[in-house]
Amino acid sequence: MHIGNMACALLSWLSAKSQGGSWLLRIEDIDRGRSRKEFADWIMDDLHWLGLDWDEGPCYQSERSVIYQEYFDKLPVYPCYCTRADLMAASAPHASDGHHVYSGRCRPAEGKIIMPTEREPAWRVAVPDRTISFVDGRYGLQTCSLADEWGDFVVKRANGEFAYQLAVTVDDALMGVTEVVRGVDLLSSTAPQLYLYEALGLKAPKFIHFPLLNNRAGQRLSKRDNSMAMDALRQQYSAPEVIGLLAYLLGIKESAAPVWPEQLIDGFSIEIIRQIPNDLVI
Ligand SMILES: [Zn+2]
Repeated sequence: MHIGNMACALLSWLSAKSQGGSWLLRIEDIDRGRSRKEFADWIMDDLHWLGLDWDEGPCYQSERSVIYQEYFDKLPVYPCYCTRADLMAASAPHASDGHHVYSGRCRPAEGKIIMPTEREPAWRVAVPDRTISFVDGRYGLQTCSLADEWGDFVVKRANGEFAYQLAVTVDDALMGVTEVVRGVDLLSSTAPQLYLYEALGLKAPKFIHFPLLNNRAGQRLSKRDNSMAMDALRQQYSAPEVIGLLAYLLGIKESAAPVWPEQLIDGFSIEIIRQIPNDLVI
């Protein structure tokens, strides 16, 4: 975890608490190749150290495959045998987050036969040619043509793992989530998720996206910015010092004086998220 992840945690925690809500912790460890039990333990240890305690959870996505399968079965899905090279050749990466718009190559159509290969297929949901609109809490009205900007997207991978879009949609609905506060890197994922809520007959939450922190070189803060990693910060600063710095950067407080998260609940509102500058540097 780095301080940018913590900014996200702090904002969603404050938004929930300032409205008298509960803050839910979900460990998105559905990608078995990249997830390890100790990563989740570190995340929870960092959150607890900062005073960001959760009211419900942790919920581990890796334990919920049976539930995802139940909802997967309700979707209009079809198998896709495209290789990575096929996908790369068919479309340029999308500007927002680098995903490739699917060409529909394997989509069942009259007179079109896709020969199964020896590989296991990925499963795609056949999206309608429609525009999805929603009002983001900070970025306002968003519109997205599912067919043009996503195409039929993957809901289950060839290795049997369910895709992020399906897992978070099902989880948010079943966990009774009413508000999602997250970084603007996920703004473009909201439209496919809203389509899934609708297709599955589930109630969608409100979405509020906020700008991500940049490093001094103007790049989005990442794991490579070692000095901003939680283990480095924890060696140098106390938790109230880290929270104080974040509160100042995010415009919650006028100074970076040490403070506990609880002390920031009073007076917090979505207006603060709306006013976070787009080019925040740490
Ligand atoms: Zn395909």
